[in-house]
Amino acid sequence: MQSADTFTHYRGRFAPSPTGPLHAGSLVAALASWLDARAHRGQWLVRIEDVDTPRTVPGADRLILSQLAACGLHADAPPVWQSARTGLYRAALDRLVARALAYPCGCSRKDIENATHADTPRARHVELRYPGTCQHGLKGKAPRAWRLRTEGAAMAWQDRAAGPQAQDVESVVGDFVLLRADGCFAYQLAVVVDDADQGISHIVRGADLLDNTARQIRLQQCLQLPRPQYLHTPLVLGAHGEKLSKQNGAQAIDTTQALQALNLAAAALGLPAQSGPVDQALIAWTAAWASAWARPGAHLSAT
Ligand code: GLU
Repeated sequence: MQSADTFTHYRGRFAPSPTGPLHAGSLVAALASWLDARAHRGQWLVRIEDVDTPRTVPGADRLILSQLAACGLHADAPPVWQSARTGLYRAALDRLVARALAYPCGCSRKDIENATHADTPRARHVELRYPGTCQHGLKGKAPRAWRLRTEGAAMAWQDRAAGPQAQDVESVVGDFVLLRADGCFAYQLAVVVDDADQGISHIVRGADLLDNTARQIRLQQCLQLPRPQYLHTPLVLGAHGEKLSKQNGAQAIDTTQALQALNLAAAALGLPAQSGPVDQALIAWTAAWASAWARPGAHLSAT
């Protein structure tokens, strides 16, 4: 297993799912990842994560790209779309299958709910813990999905913001889905394959993805891919303390007021308000971010 030290460059990314326009919460992740890349004099890429085709909203990708541009968050390379990269995910799954690290599963969601006495969770990328029903064969059931074996996957890692982290993937999540019953590759597999293929050294994203990280590090190990460094930013909550998401109708940012939208995102990151042109504001925030974050052991000043 290679470690983050194996990277000789800094390359970051923002990886929105095109399920709607950028909102206040997703702009925080976009701004934080852009600032971290700039503060490290690194590169910043945008990847449209449209692998979950049933949730993809036509046109949302172009809208997100135009919102980023209006906010002055320019990428160093043209964006890529996951829907054009399924061959890479297929090859990764084949490697896992060849090493007996992945197996077919014939369980429906109802089967898993019945076996675990739990309802399907609604939070982003959270799945029901899989009880392992098909671990030792399909027992006559038709294959529906493919899962990763997680036996012995007690993961520990260091988050640049949240500090030391640990998760026993087997007991918390169980063998998780790589290829879904509807034929879509799962986010966990696609994100790991793409981050490695694009040479991403640093991942900066919202804290709601913190508990996905152990699964992703496990997959990196199984696929013998290097581990990037992680920084999970604080979540932006709505007026009633609810998590902002496209699913709960969070408002699209108003790009006619780009500085105002950026100031809100900057405030969530503990950065001082700026006035004046967006480009100047971004330069000032890059300097502030560099002194807070772009040095070893730096910790988040804001929560
Ligand atoms: N596309 C993912 C999402 O919006 C985020 C991916 C990531 O930053 O790792 O949930």
